[in-house]
Amino acid sequence: MPVTRSVVILGGTGEARELAAHLVDRQGVRVVSTLAGRVREPRLPVGEVRVGGFGGPERMADWLRAEGADVVVDATHPFAARISESAAVAAGLAGVPVLLLRRPGWSPGNGDHWRWADSLDEAAELLPGLGERVFLTTGRQGLSAFAGSPLWFLVRCVDAPTPPLPQRMRLLLSRGPYALDGELDLMRTHRIDVLVTKDSGGEHTVAKLHAARLLRKPVVIVRRPAVPDVPTVATVDHALSWLDTALG
Ligand code: NAP
Repeated sequence: MPVTRSVVILGGTGEARELAAHLVDRQGVRVVSTLAGRVREPRLPVGEVRVGGFGGPERMADWLRAEGADVVVDATHPFAARISESAAVAAGLAGVPVLLLRRPGWSPGNGDHWRWADSLDEAAELLPGLGERVFLTTGRQGLSAFAGSPLWFLVRCVDAPTPPLPQRMRLLLSRGPYALDGELDLMRTHRIDVLVTKDSGGEHTVAKLHAARLLRKPVVIVRRPAVPDVPTVATVDHALSWLDTALG
């Protein structure tokens, strides 16, 4: 009987789904993806899926041992800092190698007017003076940072956010990917003065930044949280190469 090696993918991103799709039909490899369970109708990866938090790093370590995990790939979103920290600790406790798969952040180009913020609170503080009408694309969590603002917000997120929310806002529930024409149209229709985004990186949601450049609108961009000190790659292909070595 050939030995089966278990790969755990901490997911919630396109890269996590792509990685699972590459691995699921490999002989001798079992893939288990995990999701936080925050999104009402998540895009599910192929293969086995576990939904819900673990209850902290010790519990995650117990689960990794019980699953017989041979390797963990943390392919969570760049702003999901708690799970990444948890994964690094849990993998250490369970004695399982961990890889962080993290797409690169965005960088400004010619003609961009970007202001960097360390948090959503700081982003909210930067807005007065940049414009009256804000396109807020930082997701449904943490919108309380903008609740006290007198500005008008177009808030775009996947699921409806919970209060406290900006007092003057319009909610747009949608899920990317987004194309440049649509983003230009949206920003023109709502007479957007300034875009607020996290530095999520990747292609799926980058069109809003290109639209802001073409429309000569300023961008407030929230810096990424720190990452744990573990081996890190930027692409699914590099993760696959790392796994080839790790799984032997
Ligand atoms: P977070 O603050 O780092 O995580 C909060 C808690 O949720 C974690 O401590 C963990 O619970 C649980 N959790 C998170 N990701 C998990 C996963 N993949 N599998 C199992 N449990 C998980 O994360 P977040 O910012 O709330 O994001 C939640 C999920 O949405 C992440 O998986 C992320 O990849 C995805 N996502 C986040 C963003 C974003 O902007 N933050 C954007 C797109 C997608 P326990 O401590 O109980 O183990």
